[in-house]
Amino acid sequence: MPHRNQTIGGLIKIVESYDKKADFDIIRLAYDFANEAHKDQTRRSGEPYITHPLAAAYILANMSIDPVIIVATLLHDVPEDTSRTLEEIKENFGTEIYTLVKGITKLGKLKYRGVERYIENLRKMFIAMAEDVRVMIMKFADRIHNLTTLDALPPQKRYRIALESLEIYAPIANRLGMDEMKGQLEDLSFKFVYPKEYERVKKMRDEKLQGKEKYFKHVIDITKKELDNSNISIISIQGRNKKLYSLYKKLLNKNNEVARIYDIIAIRIIVDNIAKCYATLGILHSVWKPIKGRIKDYIAQPKPNGYQSLHTTVFAEGGEAVEFQIRTLEMDEDAEYGIAAHWHYDEQGNKRPTKEIKWVQELAKIQKDILNKLSDLEEMKIDFLQTRIFVLTPKGDVIDLPEKATPVDFAFHIHSDIGNKCTGVRVNEKMVSLDTELRNGDIVDIIIDKNRKGPSADWLKFVKTHTAKEHIINYTRPKSTIAKFFNILPRKGEK
Ligand code: MN
Repeated sequence: MPHRNQTIGGLIKIVESYDKKADFDIIRLAYDFANEAHKDQTRRSGEPYITHPLAAAYILANMSIDPVIIVATLLHDVPEDTSRTLEEIKENFGTEIYTLVKGITKLGKLKYRGVERYIENLRKMFIAMAEDVRVMIMKFADRIHNLTTLDALPPQKRYRIALESLEIYAPIANRLGMDEMKGQLEDLSFKFVYPKEYERVKKMRDEKLQGKEKYFKHVIDITKKELDNSNISIISIQGRNKKLYSLYKKLLNKNNEVARIYDIIAIRIIVDNIAKCYATLGILHSVWKPIKGRIKDYIAQPKPNGYQSLHTTVFAEGGEAVEFQIRTLEMDEDAEYGIAAHWHYDEQGNKRPTKEIKWVQELAKIQKDILNKLSDLEEMKIDFLQTRIFVLTPKGDVIDLPEKATPVDFAFHIHSDIGNKCTGVRVNEKMVSLDTELRNGDIVDIIIDKNRKGPSADWLKFVKTHTAKEHIINYTRPKSTIAKFFNILPRKGEK
């Protein structure tokens, strides 16, 4: 990030490009206020301190984010690092900006030190999110800029900050659906946390991509022509490289066989509306043969974090596998910005009306739980930060579970009664055992025995979700020493 070219004038120009009615005086005032407050401070790199809040504000302006958040970002380090107080910010900038700056100040300069700190950091972040999720948007921008200037820090500190970004910030950004920021946090941290793997994966990707530009351009040209022939106007079409860290994780799952990864480059097509998305899919399939099992309709069945798109991999020119992603502009913005899309301005300069998405409600639920029972945080953290899968009920409802969840987790997720009485399961119409690890897209049909007394303590050995564990423990815990004394044991075979 070339700070040298970043100025308050430049920032205002970007904001003006998407919000003509923004209060530019306040933006300028915030900059002057922060500049004055930090005037004797420098960054580790030797640059004036103000370059940091300014760069963080630039990151958000480049995402067309609400100017209120940008003002707060300019001020974000003032209360903690200077003699200016939060009260002064309230007097000068009003309650809303004060609240945002207070939120990020409370998060503090988090330090990554072992598991306890990790939990403590998470707790603070969940609370901040519960109070105002905009604070996390600011925090991500702050962290992204810090990661781009890590070279100025001693190696040990560099590693700690990068590790924390990878293990805490990126998964939260992911849960908030903020793909763009998640990707940046991961790739910026990756090379400091796993330098060897970073080099290896980068080399692998570069080799795979070498000389492919012409090929992809050719495929894109054919696509454009075909869509044009069918009168489908394209808003945009471009090749997108897979991010390095996400490629690394995928390689781990595929025994490092790069040949089995089809989306190192994906061609993303943006069209006007949903009907045209499906029409585009049909046209692609009439030109090139789709690969079986690689067509995914995330429009009809969005991912739990709200992601919508059609994906398909086809044997394109010369029989080479190419992935396409087809979506509308709104879906694209949701995918890139996630929850931040609510504070993002579209090309006409309008802010999106707030729309309740399922996972936003779910997030609120998780947060409430966490605030109520902080002692269970370790458990919650595992549920929340694990990679999620989504599976389907026989009726087609999408259920969001952590990776490696089992049919028993699924059953308790639906209802405690279903969990308590479940005796078997059909996954994709086949009978399987209750400890089977579920996979994305599985259709799960729980078989119930109405006469069953309750869950088996054995299930604790394989369930993954907090909900399932809690129900099973509550049910199977010996009620009292009297019960133990009379040797009242669970039914045979359940121990
Ligand atoms: Mn900062």
